[in-house]
Amino acid sequence: MIDAELKMQFLYALRSRGVTNSAVLTAMEQIDRAPFIKGYFAERAYEDMPLPIACGQTISQPSVVGLMTQALDINPRDTVLEVGTGSGYQAAILSHLARRVYTVDRHSRLVREAREVFDRLGLTNVTAFTADGSFGLPDQAPFDRILVTAAAEDPPGPLLSQLKVGGIMVLPVGQSDAVQHLIRVRRTDQGLDYDELRAVRFVPLVEGVARDA
Ligand code: SAH
Repeated sequence: MIDAELKMQFLYALRSRGVTNSAVLTAMEQIDRAPFIKGYFAERAYEDMPLPIACGQTISQPSVVGLMTQALDINPRDTVLEVGTGSGYQAAILSHLARRVYTVDRHSRLVREAREVFDRLGLTNVTAFTADGSFGLPDQAPFDRILVTAAAEDPPGPLLSQLKVGGIMVLPVGQSDAVQHLIRVRRTDQGLDYDELRAVRFVPLVEGVARDA
C-alpha cells in the first residue's frame, strides 16, 4: 500500500479532472499504479502524467484512464476487450469493474510483463494475448464494451463488428502527430451512434504484431 497522503492527492487530481464515477474511483483507489511501471519512473506513479514503459510505449495519464473507463459505463456482468495492453494498468482497472477482460498488445514483451503483474495482484479475470488488436479477438467476440488505447484514423471495422447491440466502444481517432479526439460509439438496433468526448494524445495503432518477440 502506498502512502495515504500520496493516494489522497492522486484521487483528488482524478476528481478535479472530471473522474466522478464512484465505482471507477474505487477501482483506481484499490489498484496501485506503481507495479505497472518499471524502474526509475515508478517513483512518479501517482502523478497525473503519462510515463514511458518498455518498447517505446507509454502508460496513459491516470485521469485519462479514469475518463475513458467512466465513458465505457461498464456493468459488472460485461465482457470487455481492451486493445493496447501496454503496462496492463488500464486492464487491471477494467478487471475490477467487469466480469471478464481480454486485452491484446502487438508487443509480446508487454503482454508477458503485464501477465506477471496480473498474477502477482491476483487478477484472475483478465487474459492478455499478443495480437494485432485492429482485428479484435474473433474467438472471444462479441463484446459488451471495447476500449482502444492507441489512436487509429478511423474506428477499425472488425472492432465495430465485434461490438454487441447495446455495446459501447471508446477510442481515440486521428493522426498520431495531430490532435486526436476521444470518441464513443454505441451500437443500437438501428446502427451506430457516435459522440465526441475530448481531445487526447495517444501513441498510434500500428499494423501487425511486433517482431521484437
Ligand atoms: N492501456 C495501456 C497504455 C497503452 S499505450 C496502459 O494502461 O498502460 C498503447 C499500446 O497499444 C502500446 O503498448 C502499443 O504496443 C499498443 N498497440 C499499438 N498498435 C496496436 C495493435 N494494432 N494491436 C495491439 N496493440 C497495439
